[in-house]
Amino acid sequence: MNDRRYVLLDRDGTIIEECEYLCDPARVALLPGAARGLRALTRLGLGLVLVSNQSGLGRGYFSEEDLWAVHVRLRQLLTAEGIRLDGSYYCPHVPEEGCGCRKPAPGLIEQAAAELGFDARRCFVIGDKRCDVELGLAVGAQSILVRTGHGRREEMVPGPAPHHVVDDLEQAARIIAVLLDEPQV
Ligand SMILES: [Mg+2]
Ligand SMILES: [Zn+2]
Repeated sequence: MNDRRYVLLDRDGTIIEECEYLCDPARVALLPGAARGLRALTRLGLGLVLVSNQSGLGRGYFSEEDLWAVHVRLRQLLTAEGIRLDGSYYCPHVPEEGCGCRKPAPGLIEQAAAELGFDARRCFVIGDKRCDVELGLAVGAQSILVRTGHGRREEMVPGPAPHHVVDDLEQAARIIAVLLDEPQV
């Protein structure tokens, strides 16, 4: 177990523009504030890990090669901004399969925590949907809803409250900086 703390980030609608069942690398675009926010989180010494539901795979809407091409493009865009991900985890299943890794099930975080050696309860989970909020709460992490992607709509949906609601990743990074200064978090 290492002492480093990690931020578990949703992909679509959180880091990049939401496109339903995105499978075209040419359509990968970083959201405003995403690069600045991710750089700020890196400067705080936090690890960055992607956790994403990609049921388009299980539904046959796109192939693993398509998913990989999108992923490579995302890495290129982040590298150009001086940002490096410490890991990326995808759930390829459809909801009906009842897998343990489709968010809000904690499988992706458990896998990341085991491979990278961190305590999930000391993480920050950021996303634009209820499933991201519920995932964060399920693993005992700090849960942050961003108002990008589906976030503005999801904020209105009844359900367990995230710890924080912010406009974008840049604002999320500012909140996390404050939280890291508080000894009880
Ligand atoms: Mg999303
Ligand atoms: Zn799964």
